[in-house]
Amino acid sequence: MSLERFDLILVGGGLSSAAIVYYLCKDQRFYKSLGKKVRIAVFDKGGDYWRGVPYGSLAEQDFLLVENLENTGMNEFSHWIELNIENLVANIDSKFMKEWYERYRQLIDSKRYGECYFPRRWFGLFIQELMRDLLKMNSDSLEVTFKHSEITDLDFDGDAYSYVDIQQQHYFSKMLCLCIGSIPQKRPFPINESVRRHPRYISNELICAHFNLYERLFFPVKNSPGCVDIVILGSSASAVEVLYYLSSRPELNSKVGNIVLLSKCGHLVDGITADNYVENKGVSLSTDRPTSDHYLAYVLKLIKAGKINFVQCLVENVDFLDNRFCVSVVDSTDNRSSIEFSGDFVINCTGRGSIENSTSLLLNKLASKFPVEPGLRGFEVGGNNEVRGSKGFFINGPLLNRGELKQVESIRGVFREANIIAKELINRFCRASEKTLESV
Ligand SMILES: Cc1cc2nc3c(=O)[nH]c(=O)nc-3n(C[C@H](O)[C@H](O)[C@H](O)COP(=O)(O)OP(=O)(O)OC[C@H]3O[C@@H](n4cnc5c(N)ncnc54)[C@H](O)[C@@H]3O)c2cc1C
Repeated sequence: MSLERFDLILVGGGLSSAAIVYYLCKDQRFYKSLGKKVRIAVFDKGGDYWRGVPYGSLAEQDFLLVENLENTGMNEFSHWIELNIENLVANIDSKFMKEWYERYRQLIDSKRYGECYFPRRWFGLFIQELMRDLLKMNSDSLEVTFKHSEITDLDFDGDAYSYVDIQQQHYFSKMLCLCIGSIPQKRPFPINESVRRHPRYISNELICAHFNLYERLFFPVKNSPGCVDIVILGSSASAVEVLYYLSSRPELNSKVGNIVLLSKCGHLVDGITADNYVENKGVSLSTDRPTSDHYLAYVLKLIKAGKINFVQCLVENVDFLDNRFCVSVVDSTDNRSSIEFSGDFVINCTGRGSIENSTSLLLNKLASKFPVEPGLRGFEVGGNNEVRGSKGFFINGPLLNRGELKQVESIRGVFREANIIAKELINRFCRASEKTLESV
């Protein structure tokens, strides 16, 4: 049985985790005042270190950052783009990326990079390079071990944390940062196992926003003998991406029949429907998730062709009868009358889950063990983001739910919180090394 010990364990190895290590490396106190190398372990069940869910191999190659370069708030990313743009553009080989380039060519040629919406995978390349260089430069003070595994349970004995992973290996650390991204989705409506496991029911319930559209949607639709009807549940940014995907692949154009989009609000983010779309204004003017205009130009083709029917309703049930899905909804605008929609594919984009009803083994354990208030979207965390009563337990990323911590689900947000957490971690490391010196 493994009994490895670390000073700090980061559970989840995406951007939230990268941002904490980034600020640890940037703080001179960390470098100067520690008597020994700090041993950190980064656990990630997917193994796509630092890029996590949005910026690595799980992202479709032509899915873009939701903000333009300027609004990522990362000067280092801007510099990286300036340095690498020629190379990146020269290596574009897919037709979707070529289309993307044509759209932004003028801005790129005139070096107005700040206005461009770049592919999420490029941000992933940047963050990996940044972290690789930082770890190399700080190898005297920091030793990072990568563990490709899922942590399924953890405990605190008042002094240290003990962990169990999916292979029943045990680990220990003095401090812990939980950076596991969005809460894996609960099922927001009844759905039986056989429907849930059906290859044409496409859901991101296990990993938020990862649909594997290439295998699950592109091939079956392209190869279907006739037109297919698609029912999309929810109208989130993921739904916009799915619509963009359907519209931007010419192989699918003649194969997609009707699309019904069923959601509580009955329209896309920020009220976009065929009637009110303003060309060149983008999907959303809100600061929340401004998705690029690039997507909407494609989605609009479907809207204008009359292929999308937006319905304001609540989904009640999804069933599978006579080789078609049957989705029952209640109309939320009238007296809750019941309506049914059918389709060959159902794509569930209904958003994130809640802590009490998550498919994460770890979250289910944590919610019952730690004195945190599981809120609607995550943990209610007190001062310094430390989980109350649990020394050295910090959380970063979408799991944070304090009222004032808006936008932790963004590049800016996770870096802002990571800065606070890293300072606090360094205080603890310094205190621990002072104690060791006193006792010598
Ligand atoms: C599809 C998508 C696109 C987005 N696009 C943008 C964008 O363009 N701009 C923006 O500002 N924000 C965007 N966001 C918001 C995003 O949440 C943040 O930018 C940031 O990437 C969150 O990083 P994270 O590390 O907290 O989460 P994640 O990237 O989800 O990383 C969490 C990691 O934890 C691992 N993990 C989970 N549970 C365990 C466990 N028990 N044991 C071990 N490992 C575990 C997962 O494998 C994963 O790699 C996007 C989010 C999503 C989901």
